[in-house]
Amino acid sequence: MDNLARFNLPELNELSSQYEQPKYRAGQLFSAVHKGISIDKMTNIPTQFRQVLNQKFTALGTKIVQTVTSRDGTEKYLFALKDGNVVEGVLMRYTYGNTLCISSQVGCRMGCAFCASGIGGLTRNMDAGEILSQVIEVNAMKSCGTTRGVTNIVMMGTGEPLDNLDNVLKFLALVTDPNGINISPRNISLSTSGIIPSIYALADSGIDVNLTISLHSPFDDVRSSLMPVNTAYPIKELIKAAKHYFNKTGRRVYYEYLLIKGVNDRRVDAQRLKELLGGHSCHLNLIRLNYVEEKGLKGTDGAGIRSFMRELDKLNVCHTLRRSMGGDIAGACGQLRKKYREDNDD
Ligand code: SAH
Ligand code: SF4
Repeated sequence: MDNLARFNLPELNELSSQYEQPKYRAGQLFSAVHKGISIDKMTNIPTQFRQVLNQKFTALGTKIVQTVTSRDGTEKYLFALKDGNVVEGVLMRYTYGNTLCISSQVGCRMGCAFCASGIGGLTRNMDAGEILSQVIEVNAMKSCGTTRGVTNIVMMGTGEPLDNLDNVLKFLALVTDPNGINISPRNISLSTSGIIPSIYALADSGIDVNLTISLHSPFDDVRSSLMPVNTAYPIKELIKAAKHYFNKTGRRVYYEYLLIKGVNDRRVDAQRLKELLGGHSCHLNLIRLNYVEEKGLKGTDGAGIRSFMRELDKLNVCHTLRRSMGGDIAGACGQLRKKYREDNDD
C-alpha cells in the first residue's frame, strides 16, 4: 500500500482536487501526516474522504516493530515497511538535542568490506515517504509537552543515500519544510561512500545539508579493497568534489575514518591524510570499528588509536574520536536488521 508521507504539497493538492476537495485540504493533510496522525484520526478531514484515502493509503510508510534501549538512553528501532522488509534507525540523546540516524535503502549494493548493511546486497530503494516516516514516527513518539522530539538527523543507517538520490532529495525537501517537521538543513548530515556525480547534484540541489564522506583510507589501493566504489570514484576526484561542496554550500565537510588494525592506522596513513586534507576546510572523524563476524576485520586497539591521534596532532590534522553510544545494544550498523532477518527466516 502507498503512503501519504511521500507526497509534497503540490502532489497533495492534485490528489485532493481529484476527489473535489477544497483547496485547503492539501495543507491539512500535509500537517496531519507530518505530525504522525493516522488517517482515521484526522478529524478535520470529512469521514467520506478519509474512507477513500484509507482504501489506497496509510499515512506513514513505516511501523516500528522492535525497540531496544541501551543503558545510556540510546534507542535502536526496527522499522517494518509495507512489503515486510525491515530497516533500522537509532536515536541518540545529547545535551543539545536528539539525533536520529535513519536508513535510505533496504540493504546496500556498495559491498564495503567492514559493513553488515551490505551483506545480502540491495533489495530496493526506499521511497521519500518511507525515509521520512522514520523521522515522523520517532518524533511523534518522543515529542510531548515540553519534551523535545527529533532535532537532528544523520543519514547513516542502512543504505547509500546517494545511490537513491531522487528519493533522498525529495525527503530532504519534505523534512525541512516549514509546514512540516521543519528540521534545519544545518541539523542534517548525509553520509556517503563517495558517489561523485551525486555529490555535485547534492551541491546543486540548494538544500545545504552537512556532507560526511566515508574515507577510511587515504590510499587508492587500500580504499578500493575496503570500498569497491573507490575503483569508479578515486580519492583525488572525491576530495575535489568535497571541496566543490564546501565552496558551493559553505558547509565544512566531515570525513569518517574507521580505524582498522594494521590497514589504515599507520604513520604513513596519518602523513598521507595530512597531504590530502591539509588546506581543505574539513574535519576528520575517527570511529572505532564494530566487529562484524562475517567480515572478520579487526579494529585498532586503544593504544593504537592513541598513537594514531598523536600523529595527527603532530601534523595538525583536525580530528576527533567519535563517542560511541549504545555500545551494549547497537552492534555494528546493520546488525539488528540482520539478526531480525535471520530470526524470521523460517
Ligand atoms: N552508505 C553511507 C551511509 C551509511 S554507513 C556511507 O557508507 O557513508 C554509515 C557509516 O557507518 C559509514 O561511515 C560506514 O563506513 C560506517 N560503518 C559501516 N560498517 C561499520 C562498522 N562495522 N563499524 C563502524 N562503522 C561502520
Ligand atoms: Fe553501504 Fe555505507 Fe555499508 Fe558501504 S558502509 S556497504 S556504502 S551502507
